[in-house]
Amino acid sequence: MALEQILKPQDYATDVHNDWCPGCGDFGILRTIQMALAELKLDPYRVAMVSGIGCSAKTIHYIKTYGVHTLHGRVLPVAQGVKLANPGLEVVAVGGDGDGMGIGGAHFVNAGRRNLDMLYVLFDNGVYGLTKGQASPTLKLGVQTKSLAHPNINEAVNPIWLALAAGATWVGRGYSYDVKHLKDLIIQGIRHRGYAFLDVLQPCPTYNDINTKEWYGGEDRAEMNGGRPLPRVYKLEAEAFDPEVHDPSEIELKASKALEKSLEWGDRIPIGVFYRNEHVPIYGDRIQQRIPTYYTTPPAVQTIAGPRGEPLTDLSKLLDRLTIKPS
Ligand code: SF4
Repeated sequence: MALEQILKPQDYATDVHNDWCPGCGDFGILRTIQMALAELKLDPYRVAMVSGIGCSAKTIHYIKTYGVHTLHGRVLPVAQGVKLANPGLEVVAVGGDGDGMGIGGAHFVNAGRRNLDMLYVLFDNGVYGLTKGQASPTLKLGVQTKSLAHPNINEAVNPIWLALAAGATWVGRGYSYDVKHLKDLIIQGIRHRGYAFLDVLQPCPTYNDINTKEWYGGEDRAEMNGGRPLPRVYKLEAEAFDPEVHDPSEIELKASKALEKSLEWGDRIPIGVFYRNEHVPIYGDRIQQRIPTYYTTPPAVQTIAGPRGEPLTDLSKLLDRLTIKPS
């Protein structure tokens, strides 16, 4: 498809049947990704989306780009592999909080250390929606959603805190019902040179009857606000929060301010950019220092077989090094 034809979000939509529940917060995130791709004028063949397992993992089927629907919890290793093999692609990983913070937790930590130039969008609803609403790692201690026989007995993982501690160089949070704001965050995350992590508060109206659209919107607090809802979600930028690391000497200060903000929850829930630091070398640049041809001839464009399918790679030196020789 020619670039000039790809200007509208609907150009990034597929005709795959969507089976999300009515009112699911996933719809807002899907739409904002399509809006962001359109605004960035990214041709579909330049974008690869990777997902794990869960309701949100179906997102890649609804967006007209390359897509890999991989195993539970393995979204980040696969996404990183795609980016490493073909650094010219824009890589966007998507998945739920169970997928990313539970079984995928170790991959989440190690993605921060590497700082590949990609975006990971976490659909964060506090439950395992696809399997009938069990408590996920981001559900707060003591909260009892409708599928739980008892209040949640575990402390919650804080994805923003964990991303900062792991070394993510861009960390943000959006809200799936604030589509314009979320779209701007996705654009920022894609443009960021380095590993960008975006936590998205995504109500699951079917299984999470506590953190609902009405709860985030503060409809239960109208009597404190002259009869009008008093939203719990607020924007960091509206309070002049500056997430930018302008100079490496500011890293500690900016990270600690972001960590402090990440602890806010309940009556005030911040969304926006918590941290942005482009002073850390990206993984691709580190590889290029060792392999000068990495960006010009990355693995994805290298010829691996001859006309008869015969491998072109000479492994003899490697095998020779691995051979244990009798002493
Ligand atoms: Fe959305 Fe929840 Fe339904 Fe899954 S179970 S599609 S997260 S509303």
